Amino acid sequence: MADKVYNFGAGPAMLPEPVMQKIQQEWLNFQGMGVSIIEISHRSKEFVAVLNEAQSLFRELTGLPDNYRILFVHGGARMQFSALPMNLAERVPSRKSLYVESGNFANLAAEEAKAFSHMEIIASSAATNFDRIPKITLEEINQDAAYLHITSNNTIYGTRWNQFPQTGDVPLIADMTSELLSRQIDYNQFGVVYAGLQKNLGPSGMAMVIIREDLLGHASRQTPTLLNYTQCDKDNSLTNTTNTFAIYVIKLVLEWLKEQGGVKAIEKLNKQKSARLYQVIDNTDFYHGIAQPEFRSIMNVSFKLATEELENKFLQAAGAIGLYALKGHRKVGGVRASIYNPMPMAGVEKLANFMTEFERQNR
Ligand code: PLP
Repeated sequence: MADKVYNFGAGPAMLPEPVMQKIQQEWLNFQGMGVSIIEISHRSKEFVAVLNEAQSLFRELTGLPDNYRILFVHGGARMQFSALPMNLAERVPSRKSLYVESGNFANLAAEEAKAFSHMEIIASSAATNFDRIPKITLEEINQDAAYLHITSNNTIYGTRWNQFPQTGDVPLIADMTSELLSRQIDYNQFGVVYAGLQKNLGPSGMAMVIIREDLLGHASRQTPTLLNYTQCDKDNSLTNTTNTFAIYVIKLVLEWLKEQGGVKAIEKLNKQKSARLYQVIDNTDFYHGIAQPEFRSIMNVSFKLATEELENKFLQAAGAIGLYALKGHRKVGGVRASIYNPMPMAGVEKLANFMTEFERQNR
């Protein structure tokens, strides 16, 4: 019998097995309607109930304070790189936006903001190849700025912010694409949190935006309607025909997460999963972790072997036993195990054992 496949892809990524089964079950007959979820109107009462349920489950699971709104928006995370400055820069006369450069996506976000605000990078870890999160202090944050943007988990390098920066009156914005719902977060620290869906939430091409109410209503006049968060909020994310399937999958994923015991329980498991892999890396000089230990992600574990040839051999042998999509991002090479919420401990255990055995045979 062929090996069970464990998908370590960085995104689109694996979804929980029960979610995939539920999609299959309901595919041709959603709620006994005789049609599928992607064949009914986005304004039908059945779909609107799905959307509202997704929002209320998210609130329940995260303890989101009442003064935050939940939006489902088009274009994935990178569309928000433009939408954020369009919606927020005009809040303050300086039109200044501050960015921390902690990796590839942080950099892309900052570059995009140049077109719509006076963008300034206030800290960077580029000099050490993004192996850490740069340090910033409150004194370095210009209080005239419209916001400060960070990438809370750096998918490619496998680093994350353990402690979020104090920003004074400047709203903190976090791209949480590769870690939303993976750990308990006090949302009160943030003005905006956003995430592309394709890691912990569902299909690619859309994003969730969680925004504090007082930050709505400041979009620049040039903001396209479909990028305008205030409009999106007014229309309960139904300004135009939304991706009904994606929102349906989010709802199923959130139901699944609730059944697992919620964010607290999944965080505990995520810590155990990542610790198992870091333990293998730390016990040898055969594998080299990319992130400095203090900043290690619990979602993306990136490491290298001595040569590219050895890495290719590793990836090929792993693939042959069902350890799928472990190749590191083209910018860093090496190996990356993305172990989002749906990855079971059994998958991590199989990878950890494989790593130990591969080392034994190839040392
Ligand atoms: N931000 C982070 C942290 C990511 O990991 C990614 C994709 O992997 C993106 C942004 C880009 O997301 P999208 O492809 O949905 O625009």
